[in-house]
Amino acid sequence: MGEIVLKSETIELEEYKSLLSNPYKTFRQADQLRREICGDEVSFVINRNINFTDRCINRCKFCSFRFRKNYLLSKEEIAKKVEEALDYGCTEVCIQGGLLENANLNFYIDILQTVRDISKSIHIHAFSPMEVFHAARNSKMHVEDVLRELKRAGLDSIPGTAAEILVDEIREEICPEKLKTSEWVFVIKTAHKLGIPTTATMMYGHIESWEDRIEHLLLIKKIQQETHGITEFIPLPFMPKNNPLGKLSSGSSGFEDLLVIAIARIILYPEIKNIQASWVKLGKKLVQASLYTGANDVGGTLMEENISKAAGSSSGEFLEVEEILQLIRTAGRIPVQRSTVYEPIKRFDSD
Ligand code: SF4
Repeated sequence: MGEIVLKSETIELEEYKSLLSNPYKTFRQADQLRREICGDEVSFVINRNINFTDRCINRCKFCSFRFRKNYLLSKEEIAKKVEEALDYGCTEVCIQGGLLENANLNFYIDILQTVRDISKSIHIHAFSPMEVFHAARNSKMHVEDVLRELKRAGLDSIPGTAAEILVDEIREEICPEKLKTSEWVFVIKTAHKLGIPTTATMMYGHIESWEDRIEHLLLIKKIQQETHGITEFIPLPFMPKNNPLGKLSSGSSGFEDLLVIAIARIILYPEIKNIQASWVKLGKKLVQASLYTGANDVGGTLMEENISKAAGSSSGEFLEVEEILQLIRTAGRIPVQRSTVYEPIKRFDSD
């Protein structure tokens, strides 16, 4: 597994810390970089989330989703959700779930097969690095072989979730049972090697420092310089309701959310072109503001969203295409429907 030496790269770290001292200058710089590489188009994807179970053997301290309802979707229930997604015009299903004790490679392949029995073409964006790692562990297989089999069964891309903060001292506090930083990096890089693109995320606003956030961003940049397999970066503010970590932190401010997006744009430039502002986490108005501090994508329609809702999000579970178009247009930008991997599907020039 790749060695991580970012702690020693202090010159770069100090350099980026200066972005914090003048936030307005940082916002302006991020907006200029966004304009330079993305122009005035703001993208979105028509997708559906499917969280197949909330049962989980891990006990991450920020998790409000685990055992909230104690459910496991049957194949028929998953199939019905996929059919509804196709009826709505979704080009993607995003499939993730808790870690069932005995879930092995065949369990995850069955889910892919259920989708593929209904549609050969819908993009399957599924299984976090933690789930891939779990499948490999339970099947006593190498991560690379697991990824190869998942790809063969229809997996198109992987969400770069389970990243939280990629600094082991922080992970030890907030999610000690989750895969370590080097393991997360290994799953992601191996996926890229096999031609499976991924996103990258960061969950911030709890016990981590700005230094940890910047270290995380530098690591993501470093991976991208090596593999070019990351399609977008998605900063996710910690949601403090109904979880133990919420007793230690009430989460980030809106101003901080915008600053994280701006700093992500600057640090990841030019390697990562797409910075997503998540409407579920930020709310629609803050997403609009973020389009002026570095973001160029507003994510997906989702259709249902169980994880943030359990942690106190009040932004809803479904943003209709019309609402997304309006959100982008009233922020003064041009909406573009995209595929999961950022191929343009339709540009909406006017009403
Ligand atoms: S965040 Fe994921 S892995 Fe952690 S407890 Fe919740 S469902 Fe399980």
